Amino acid sequence: MLELDERLQRLQAQMREWSGEVHRLALEVDASPENIEKLIELPALRYLATLLIPADRQPSPLRLGPHVYDGTRCIERVVAIEELASADAAAVLAAPGPSLSGVIVAQLADEEQKEWYYQRLLSAPRWTFFALTEPAQGSNAGQLTTRLHRDGDAWRLTGAKRYVGGAARADLGVVVARRSGGPLGVTAVLVETSEPGFAAVPLPTVGLRAAGLSAITLREVPVSEDRFLGRHLPATARGMNAVTRTFHQFRPGVAAMALGVARAAHKYVTDHRRTLRVAERHRLDELAARIHTVRRLVRLAAARVDADPTDGALGSVAKVRAVALAEQATALAPRFFGSGARLDHPLLDKLARDALGLEFMEGTSHMQKLSYVQSHLKGRLTGV
Ligand SMILES: Cc1cc2nc3c(=O)[nH]c(=O)nc-3n(C[C@H](O)[C@H](O)[C@H](O)COP(=O)(O)OP(=O)(O)OC[C@H]3O[C@@H](n4cnc5c(N)ncnc54)[C@H](O)[C@@H]3O)c2cc1C
Repeated sequence: MLELDERLQRLQAQMREWSGEVHRLALEVDASPENIEKLIELPALRYLATLLIPADRQPSPLRLGPHVYDGTRCIERVVAIEELASADAAAVLAAPGPSLSGVIVAQLADEEQKEWYYQRLLSAPRWTFFALTEPAQGSNAGQLTTRLHRDGDAWRLTGAKRYVGGAARADLGVVVARRSGGPLGVTAVLVETSEPGFAAVPLPTVGLRAAGLSAITLREVPVSEDRFLGRHLPATARGMNAVTRTFHQFRPGVAAMALGVARAAHKYVTDHRRTLRVAERHRLDELAARIHTVRRLVRLAAARVDADPTDGALGSVAKVRAVALAEQATALAPRFFGSGARLDHPLLDKLARDALGLEFMEGTSHMQKLSYVQSHLKGRLTGV
C-alpha cells in the first residue's frame, strides 16, 4: 500500500508542483490569518475547494492525463493532503469547500439536499463548517447540549459551539444538535450562517492559525425540516453513528496533515544545514525512516476506511502515530540551529505550534488510544 499507482502518483506530482506557492505564503497567513484571501487564489486551494464534491457533479473536476480526481476516496485525500501540508498544514484547513461537512453530507444528505449543498459550493468558493464541539462538553457527541427544538410549526437551534474550523468565514455548514435523549436523538442539520440568531466569531489561536477556529452562538436559529440530514434514513443511520463515521472518514486526512508537518521539519533542516556531524546525520536519517513508516500506516488507514467506512480503528492509530511524529520532528528540528532557533527561524516555531494544534483536532491522542484499545478488544485491529 506504500506504493502509489500511476493515478495517485500523478496527483502527488501535481500537488508537489503546486505546494511551492502555498509554502511561500505560510508565514504571512500565519501572522495575519485575514491574508487568507491571497491563499484562496492558488490552484492548490482551488482544488481543495472542490475536494469531496463528486466528479459527476462538478463542471470541471481536476483532470490529470486520463484521470479525474474529486477526493471522495480517503486514499486520494491523504496523498494530496500530505503534499500540501508539507507546504503548510494550516492552509489545507483554511481552504474553502466541503471539508468535514462534506463527509457527513455525502453520507446522510438526500438528493435534494446534495444538489443544494454542492451547487452552493460550486457557484463560488465558499467556506463551510462542521460544528460538534461545545464549550462545556467538548467533542463528546453523547453529551452535547445544543438543542434542536420545536417552536410551533418551526424547528429552532439553540446552544453554543467552539473551536469550529472556518465558521466565522463560512456561508453554510452542519450543526450537530440534540433533538431527543440517547444516541438516536443526535441530529445533524444544514444551516446557513445568514439565518437570524446565528453568530460566529474567530478565536485567537496559537497553532494552525489560518484555519480560523471560531466560536458559534445559536439563538433560536430557524431550521426547516428539509435541512435535517438523513431524514430519509433509519434513525440508527443518522444519529451518533453518522458523526462517528464522519470522523472515521476524515481522521486519516488529519494524520496526513501531521505527516506533512513532520516532513516540513525534516526538510527545513536538510535545506538549511549544509554540513552535518555524524550524530546529527543519524538523527535526521532516523527521522526520515520514521516518516516513511508512518506514511505507510496513514495510507493503510485510508485504504481501510475506503473499504469499510465503519472501521476507524486504524485511523485512530495513524492519527496518534502521525501527531507524535510531528511533535517529535518539530521538537528535534530547532536543535540543529542553536538555542535561539525558534526565534531565528520563524518557520520552525510555526511548525511546532501547528503540530500541537493537530494533537487536539479530531480527538486527542488519549481519546484515540482509548478508542483503539476498545477496537483491539473487539478484535478489529488484527493484521496491522
Ligand atoms: C485545529 C482544530 C480544528 C478543529 N476543528 C473543529 C471543527 O471543525 N468542528 C468541531 O466541532 N470541533 C473542532 N475542533 C475541536 C476538537 O475536535 C476538540 O477540541 C477535540 O476533539 C478535543 O476534544 P475536547 O475539547 O472534548 O477535549 P477532551 O477530549 O475533553 O480532552 C481534554 C483533555 O483531557 C484529556 N482526556 C479527556 N478524556 C480523557 C480520558 N478518558 N482519559 C485520559 N485523558 C483524557 C485529553 O487528552 C485532553 O488533554 C478543532 C480543534 C482543533 C485544535
